Amino acid sequence: MQTDVQIAQAAKLQHINHIAAQIGLQAEQLEHYGKYKAKINPQDAFRLPAKRGKLILVTAINPTPAGEGKTTVTIGLTDALNHIGKNAMVAMREPSLGPVFGVKGGAAGGGYAQVVPMEDINLHFTGDFHAISAANNLLAAMLDNHIYQGNALQIDPKRVLWRRVVDMNDRQLRNIINGLGKPTDGVMRPDGFDITVASEVMAIFCLAKDLVDLKQRLGNILVAYSVSGSPIYARDLNAHGAMTALLKDALKPNLVQTLAGSPALVHGGPFANIAHGCNSVLATQVARHLSDYTVTEAGFGADLGAEKFCDIKCRLADIQPDCAVVVATVRALKYNGGVAKADLNAENVDAVQRGLPNLLKHINNLQNVFGLPVVVALNQFVSDSENELAAIQAACTQIGAQCALTQVWEKGGTGGVDLAEKVVQAIETHTPKFKFAYDVNLPIADKITAIATQIYGAAKVEFAAEAQAEMANLARLGLDKLPICMAKTQYSLSDDANLLGCPSDFTLHVRGMTVSAGAGFIVALCGNMMKMPGLPKVPAAEKIDVDENGVISGLF
Ligand code: ADP
Ligand code: MG
Repeated sequence: MQTDVQIAQAAKLQHINHIAAQIGLQAEQLEHYGKYKAKINPQDAFRLPAKRGKLILVTAINPTPAGEGKTTVTIGLTDALNHIGKNAMVAMREPSLGPVFGVKGGAAGGGYAQVVPMEDINLHFTGDFHAISAANNLLAAMLDNHIYQGNALQIDPKRVLWRRVVDMNDRQLRNIINGLGKPTDGVMRPDGFDITVASEVMAIFCLAKDLVDLKQRLGNILVAYSVSGSPIYARDLNAHGAMTALLKDALKPNLVQTLAGSPALVHGGPFANIAHGCNSVLATQVARHLSDYTVTEAGFGADLGAEKFCDIKCRLADIQPDCAVVVATVRALKYNGGVAKADLNAENVDAVQRGLPNLLKHINNLQNVFGLPVVVALNQFVSDSENELAAIQAACTQIGAQCALTQVWEKGGTGGVDLAEKVVQAIETHTPKFKFAYDVNLPIADKITAIATQIYGAAKVEFAAEAQAEMANLARLGLDKLPICMAKTQYSLSDDANLLGCPSDFTLHVRGMTVSAGAGFIVALCGNMMKMPGLPKVPAAEKIDVDENGVISGLF
């Protein structure tokens, strides 16, 4: 069997000018990055006549540690829609180098449902993440320089919130002391690095409507407190203009293609815990403008990804999805049914049955809390047995949910025809009644309680003293009327990774809170927040190589 990178390398790519022509853009309107990648100016796209712009959100059940195939299904569904004669584009996130070299691998899809050139997309691509790192670190440098140069704003070195970033899993940098050395070497203080995708600059980049909005949001970043407790924003350091200058080109969406030649916008990639976990608003808006069906993905399971997609991204961008696709796998349902990761390949219909309440809960949430039509994409793996697949299909039929056996990993677009037809039908027959999970003007605690009880199935929420103090502080600063970004484990509907399936009667513990005032959301921390992951004992990087002709191997 061929690996993902071998399949991608065997593909005959079309020149990016041909892909652009499909969506009405001329070659001279592109900013070329070689033959197969180009940045497009959103203004050029918005000047073209608007297409139907139906928005399909691909989300999933609570995953296994290996991922459930959301990106694969997102790409495969786009190819399938084009295969049945519709006009579809995909809008998705750019991969981060952390997972590429760590455990999970790349994020450009898999099998015969990939975006290409796969190696470029997974590595430096068009340099957007480097630009984001630079903008983040410019603000850090200006802040420390301000302290060093006399500290007119009276910034408390012990209350600096802004950290430096690097796009790498490097636990060694989580906690550091910087400013060591002579008096001219800066002011010594405790500090640390996060991974680039966890930077608030990334979240802002992905929510900005245009350059003006980007600059304003960057200026609103809360970077520190003064010794007397006043908030210090990036605009107080006059950093936002130069940060925007660094991001000017990065903000243009990147056009590439799927293996089947469907146009794909791959742009931005915030974490799905500390941030909202989906590609840039600009890429989504451009794709909606230029296609009848835009397929997009939100990170993690629907409790985190779909909820934030609806309550943060759609609210701030004033858009709404027309359909939700829930990716389910036999493996993840067995995992939710209590089977250990190592035993997921053995047939176990009972475990599938035990895991099914997890799928049903997510379907119910999407239909009833958000008012969306739902189609289940049953992403088939070779290890799945007929009985296991049949058990899932029967459970969907029983509650009247559409379920499509999906084989896009194995077959590309032709393996997703049933899914594409069911999605089109769901959109055609559904009367739009989209709604948010909570009113953004409610007190912070009420918004979190609405998410916890309606979406997670919690009985109640407990706020630790630290969280309560920060809620009061955010109300004092007038930063409490923002949507909530929940940061909790992706493995469970609860805040306990071991509570699999569909737990009920549990208490959600909110341990702390932070604000991303520039991005425009409040982060509720339930459990440990990993903003700088580490590498595993044997990192994926050890298998990645390049030969004398520049051909890369070992990427997956
Ligand atoms: P997610 O977006 O949910 O995290 P991905 O689409 O990135 O998941 O897929 C995770 C991994 O699983 C990838 O390496 C992908 O190639 C693989 N994968 C996805 N679907 C299948 C399938 N049906 N059979 C085998 N491997 C698959
Ligand atoms: Mg993904």
